[in-house]
Amino acid sequence: MATQTVPSMVAHDSMFDAVLARLDAAAKTMNLSEEVSKVLRNPQKLVKVSLPVTMDNGKVEVFEGYRCIHSTYLGPSKGGIRYAMDVSQDEVMALAAWMSFKCAVANLPYGGGKGGVKCDPRKLSVGELERITRAYTKAMADVFGVDRDIPAPDMGTSAREMAWILDEFNKIHGDDLPGVVTGKPIVLGGSLGRDAATGRGVMVCTKVALKKLNIDPKNATAAVQGFGNVGGHAARLLSEQGIKIVAISDHTGAFYNENGIDIKAALDYAAKNDRVLKGFKGGTEITNEDLLTCKCDVLVPAALQNVITEEIAHKIHAKIVVEGANGPTVPEADHVMREKNILVVPDILANSGGVTVSYFEWVQNKMGYYWSEKEVNDKHDANMELAFASVWENSNTFKTSMRIAAYITALKKIEQAAKLKGFF
Ligand code: GLU
Repeated sequence: MATQTVPSMVAHDSMFDAVLARLDAAAKTMNLSEEVSKVLRNPQKLVKVSLPVTMDNGKVEVFEGYRCIHSTYLGPSKGGIRYAMDVSQDEVMALAAWMSFKCAVANLPYGGGKGGVKCDPRKLSVGELERITRAYTKAMADVFGVDRDIPAPDMGTSAREMAWILDEFNKIHGDDLPGVVTGKPIVLGGSLGRDAATGRGVMVCTKVALKKLNIDPKNATAAVQGFGNVGGHAARLLSEQGIKIVAISDHTGAFYNENGIDIKAALDYAAKNDRVLKGFKGGTEITNEDLLTCKCDVLVPAALQNVITEEIAHKIHAKIVVEGANGPTVPEADHVMREKNILVVPDILANSGGVTVSYFEWVQNKMGYYWSEKEVNDKHDANMELAFASVWENSNTFKTSMRIAAYITALKKIEQAAKLKGFF
């Protein structure tokens, strides 16, 4: 079969423009006040730093770091730190804005922020990554804070980086506050259930969406793009619900099996194979485009942004798209999927499980009292179902897509808070 291709990244020049396109559409539909719309079109704070770091070969390299705080109307800003080569001002601005809307949709007392360092974590040693992370934390020492701005993992970072951030931040401030960062290792105050939470939220949204379309999960098929923290857990949890996973992929390959891929075998394979699927024998190798357009009921893009272009949208067979990634769909593709009557569960709802359990972690840190995994999962599932229901209701009330309805759900809350707090 055809060889692996990298998903198209050309769809939209500016990710922040993609946010504004949806913001404008929602603002018009709900009649958002002009001043709030104006305020939300600009991030509240944008910090850019240069990080000189000594590499293993003794040479100094300078890395570019960002933190964008989009809004703090509903509470301290919350959002992950991304390590990737395409990290840029435009990207963090878009991702920070999505965090504002995501936290509001999930009913969390947070605003939105996002950070990143432009680097390729796959090409860096553990020591280099630690020095970059500590340099970044030092540069952001006055930005982060337990009740100010709370980072978490995102693409290219994990609990390990959060431990370094926690340690560096507390050394600088002379405190021992576990709640300054979430997604930490359990032994440092992390929450049970946090690691799988984003994938779990995708699973809950999928179940609710299938129910809306009267499809029994036991008769449903799904394709999952991405096999990292989000896609890997999502594929596992969906298959545990009896859903047949016919296609999976990561950046090294995509695989299809109409009889269903053994997800446990795929996870075991990746765990022993440098965490990649390359060489996996549980399916036929296909391209990423084949995966996105294959015959299935549910498509879960859980890898990169901008993969569902207008062209791809025309070819999608799935009845439901559940966006595990942030920004996987370009605005032009929204219209195509709406015309095709595809039920799209948008990113700011579908992947809010991660930040929801981040919030639970922060609450547990503040209490100094920790919940069982079941307690965390039950609270998560209930919160997710509630968020889905309010977006669904707004989509009916305003006769609009779930995406625009999710923005409306968020904007209504942010508008209320912004008006109460007022402007200068
Ligand atoms: N990076 C994740 C996201 O995009 C989680 C953010 C958090 O837990 O603060 O939603």
